[in-house]
Amino acid sequence: MEPMDLFGLQALLICALIFVPLEHILALRTEQKILRKGLGTDVIYAVVNGAFLKICLVLMAAAAMSASAILVPQRIPMTVSAQATWLQVMEIIILADLGVYASHRAFHAIPALWKFHSIHHGIEELDWIAAFRAHPVDQIITKAASLLPVFFLGFSSGAIAVYFIIYTLHAQFLHANVSINFGPLKWLIATPQFHHWHHADQRDAYDKNFASQLAIIDALFGTFHIPGSKMPEKYGVDEPIPADYVGQHGYPFVRGGQQRQNTADAIVKPAGNLSQMK
Ligand SMILES: [Zn+2]
Repeated sequence: MEPMDLFGLQALLICALIFVPLEHILALRTEQKILRKGLGTDVIYAVVNGAFLKICLVLMAAAAMSASAILVPQRIPMTVSAQATWLQVMEIIILADLGVYASHRAFHAIPALWKFHSIHHGIEELDWIAAFRAHPVDQIITKAASLLPVFFLGFSSGAIAVYFIIYTLHAQFLHANVSINFGPLKWLIATPQFHHWHHADQRDAYDKNFASQLAIIDALFGTFHIPGSKMPEKYGVDEPIPADYVGQHGYPFVRGGQQRQNTADAIVKPAGNLSQMK
């Protein structure tokens, strides 16, 4: 399977075969239905927006590689792509997730950007397919911040393909309606508990857990939040996010959106320290 095909209908069916049984066996909220509210909308996001994002990624890769050919001495991409695939994949994950962290934090801190990102936070019942619900402006900026450096530095197409597969499955796993205890690994990698707290509609959890794969980035920058073994009471935002696909795309422009009251915390908090770890 081509990495870019991970956004298509075929990939969606494969992911359903993985995550629907997993959510049944390890359900966090057993009362939540598979055919939950908004599921149809999220399927459209996965298929239609996925196809659009695929085109954007191809253009982004072409632009970054053209710029790289002019600006970067060719020994750099040659050295980068000559590394073992597993090492390149690890480097891509670190590099891309630093970009995700920075852009995601900006989406929470800057009111004009929050309008777009609030669409993703409008989800009130989390499951694997909820991962796809994001405004195209949100998706394009996040992908640019995380992947332009990757394309620019000349990582091999094989390593990028492996990264895409890991990232996509990880993103769906983070949103899945599952309860799994990862022990101390929760400080290193992003887990469902870590990301469910990012979606919590609770004041103490606002503007926390921005990383998409490496929770340690949040630990290092003082935004890590997992209160013991607890899970959030509810998800979502207090804003009137439209329930329909078209309305959600227009919401940042028509309604103007709103900023959550303490989103300023996302830019004024000093770097935390690892001594908070337990
Ligand atoms: Zn967010």
